[in-house]
Amino acid sequence: MSTPHFPTPMHEALALAEQSIGLTEPNPRVGCVIVAPDGRVIGRGRTQQAGGPHAEVMALRDAAAWREIVHGATAYVTLEPCAHHGRTPPCCDALIEARLGRVVMALVDPFPQVAGQGAARLRAPASPSRKACLPARREN
Ligand SMILES: [Zn+2]
Repeated sequence: MSTPHFPTPMHEALALAEQSIGLTEPNPRVGCVIVAPDGRVIGRGRTQQAGGPHAEVMALRDAAAWREIVHGATAYVTLEPCAHHGRTPPCCDALIEARLGRVVMALVDPFPQVAGQGAARLRAPASPSRKACLPARREN
């Protein structure tokens, strides 16, 4: 698996999110790309219809389907991973349990139930991913 057509993983994540336009309402359409430490893209996901899995979970499932190891990998997500229980469990928890090394998000979620809490949870002392997890930052 590689990303020949995108200058950065975040560009591919944005393209994935675009594919979910019109599908996810009232949820935001989100894309997620997981990149292994060696630079290979090992998982891709986008948010499914409301009530369905979010982009992060879809990307983790994609990596699992390819029998890829996500421990230590970097997830590029177009929106801050959710930290609250909606119709699905928090994506933060899924990312923490998967022991990703880093989470790069394009945008902090303006939705009040998330709004920085996802980023805070990913940086919390209990998170094994905390060392390398970053707040929202511009990727390239
Ligand atoms: Zn989520």
